[in-house]
Amino acid sequence: MAMNDKKNPSSQSDLWLYNTMSRKKELFKPKVPGKVGMYVCGVTAYDLSHIGHARVYVSFDVLYRYLKHLEYEVCYVRNFTDVDDKIIARAKQLGEDPLSLSRRYCEEFHKDMTFLRCLPPSVEPRVSDHMPQIISMIIQILENGCAYIVDGDVYFSVDKSPEYGRLSGRKSEDNRAGERVAVDSRKKNPADFALWKSSKEGETYWDSPWGPGRPGWHIECSAMSAAYLGYSFDIHGGGMDLVFPHHENEIAQSCAACSSSNISYWLHNGFVTIDSEKMSKSLGNFFTIRQVIELYHPLALRLFLIGTHYRSPINYSDLQLESASDRIYYIYQTLQDCVDFLKQQNIELQEKTIPGDILNCINKFQNDFVSAMSNDLHTSDVLAALYDPMRIINDLLNTRKGKKQALRAESIAALEKSIKHVLTILGLMPSSYSEALQELKQKALHRLKLTEDEILQKIEERTSARNNKDYERSDAIRKELAAKGIALMDNPDGTTWKPALPPVPSP
Ligand SMILES: [Zn+2]
Repeated sequence: MAMNDKKNPSSQSDLWLYNTMSRKKELFKPKVPGKVGMYVCGVTAYDLSHIGHARVYVSFDVLYRYLKHLEYEVCYVRNFTDVDDKIIARAKQLGEDPLSLSRRYCEEFHKDMTFLRCLPPSVEPRVSDHMPQIISMIIQILENGCAYIVDGDVYFSVDKSPEYGRLSGRKSEDNRAGERVAVDSRKKNPADFALWKSSKEGETYWDSPWGPGRPGWHIECSAMSAAYLGYSFDIHGGGMDLVFPHHENEIAQSCAACSSSNISYWLHNGFVTIDSEKMSKSLGNFFTIRQVIELYHPLALRLFLIGTHYRSPINYSDLQLESASDRIYYIYQTLQDCVDFLKQQNIELQEKTIPGDILNCINKFQNDFVSAMSNDLHTSDVLAALYDPMRIINDLLNTRKGKKQALRAESIAALEKSIKHVLTILGLMPSSYSEALQELKQKALHRLKLTEDEILQKIEERTSARNNKDYERSDAIRKELAAKGIALMDNPDGTTWKPALPPVPSP
């Protein structure tokens, strides 16, 4: 009954992914059975990453985890752009060596990925370590007649690429020079883009057959994907903003260097918006991952990000993060209650004794999980499907005291196991439920600018009011805390608290 027991091995291929190239969902079929090559464009390491980046890498981490769950052997390549104009400009500002600046931000990025529970990719190539591969690819493109040299710069000739525009759907007349390429009258076609840029006085440079310089942005991904995955591989992904010009240019370069170059699936995630505007560094309307996880638990942020289908836009707001924190608290509390309950039971669990209705619930949950994930990774549907088994767990824990103890324990154990399995694939499993609950409480206190002592004092005040039958006072304290976002729970052994969504004020 475990989800990874494959009754039907052919189910491994039942994954439908939306391919930006064909503009439709396609059944995923790897080029080599059982193996997947996946390249995802990484960050330009010159500053802390924002929530838009978090969304890209969480989305592809879910895909990576799901492919591994389907027992594919995945080679996941995610690069670091550590040579770039922005890095050079920032380093100059700070009086720092560009490579040491980018090394610092690569480390910061790794910390963010650890917070967000993103698994490390198989390889994380950096531009500065791949100059020979990049230069030899440019030589190949020049030899094939698809690029030209102007004063130490090398440009790709878009006119030599008959398929140019296929991915983005742009016709050549609406091709403008890419954002990162300054308009240059030396270009044969304004849409031509730099493969190699000659260095200015005092800038970091690498030697090349065309003189000292550095690679253009797009060529690095063509060269590094080819270095680790070959010219023909399965999945290439990134944020939707990379479709044009970055990925369009990558295709043109790779095909110009090697005619058999072929990527089966192009996957792109949607933007994070703030007030319906795309969150981006250049627009200045962004929150860094660090800023957000200062206030909210990183797994609440992850839940928020996967709570919407990866291709849809997602609107960031405090309310959304509050609600994600509340949802994840409920999930972990339910599972912690299971663990506590089972610890008290001390019995040998046997699957056979699970009653039919519980088994049905588990099977339905597993089927919902598989059908949602195989339909272009509808993680939001998986999260919605979690509520039935959790409701039943809470039911079993709280209201079925009369039922046979053993049966109850078996059922709770089986439900917890199946939820845990799904949370693991979604990357939402904390190292311990109780630790995560404690952290969620601490974050809530931090947001509310309260200390736990202040709450405990209120609880004490309320208890003595209740003891004195001053119910008006005890009610007022409960309401006062509720209005702030603190809920009180009265148990036989006393009153405890948890963070809760503050009530919506009545109009
Ligand atoms: Zn790239």
